[in-house]
Amino acid sequence: MLLRHSAIDAVDARVLLRTTLGVSDAHLIAHASDALAADHAEKFAALVARRAAGEPVAYLVGEREFYGRTFAVSPAVLIPRPETELLVELTLERLPRNEAKRVLDLGTGSGCIAISIALERHTAQLTATDKSAAALTLARQNAQQLGARNVAFKTGDWFDALHEDRGEKYDLIVSNPPYVAEGDAHLAQGDLRFEPASALSASLDGYACLNAIVDGARAHLNRGAWLLMEHGHDQAASCRNRLRAAGYAEVQSWRDLAGIERVSGGTFDDTRPVPVN
Ligand code: GLN
Repeated sequence: MLLRHSAIDAVDARVLLRTTLGVSDAHLIAHASDALAADHAEKFAALVARRAAGEPVAYLVGEREFYGRTFAVSPAVLIPRPETELLVELTLERLPRNEAKRVLDLGTGSGCIAISIALERHTAQLTATDKSAAALTLARQNAQQLGARNVAFKTGDWFDALHEDRGEKYDLIVSNPPYVAEGDAHLAQGDLRFEPASALSASLDGYACLNAIVDGARAHLNRGAWLLMEHGHDQAASCRNRLRAAGYAEVQSWRDLAGIERVSGGTFDDTRPVPVN
């Protein structure tokens, strides 16, 4: 089988060939000299052409690894990114095992954050929201496929999704909201061109959703509970300022594996004065 293809890189070609044939890597290696059947060759060529035109591999194969598990993805959701695993790690550090803590994941997309947490902490109760019905359909499929029974899904924009549970409080709120500034050059490059703009970019230089979450979370956090948010490579200081101004305590940022401040958060402290502006 021909793995080298001039239009795309060899690793991508191998992944697309595996998808075409529905086989494992080991099978591909063992059968490296087999000829491709005509229908497979045609299907493979079509995938290669789409990849050459820029479509993300994750969308072409319909899945992506995250925190050690395989999640189904589609163009309705952001492709899970390795740096987002930091949000899962920070959440797990704050969730003792065998306790029925309540965790809210805002803007869940494929569900990768909420489902990873749910599977690592079976006694935790996860609520995962998204305003996109298509995203929630996929997230529910992922939860079922991966056996996560402790996640409830709700449709709506940020805290509006909780309208039936007005006044519900959580022990931790986590979110990877859209935070890229509208018009940012990165949106016109690579995989981002094919991902839902609503999952990537936000108004106010990318801060509209981060700010809405910082402000809205106060009404839904138990005293001392953490809010943890992913943000862009240059947004950590502004996020910390916003968290402090909104009265959060223990405000800090954490670096991803690339050394970039990628997550910021703080704890809800209702003994502090509520800001007036
Ligand atoms: N980290 C993504 C990127 O810049 C953006 C994800 C997001 O907006 N939450 O490629």
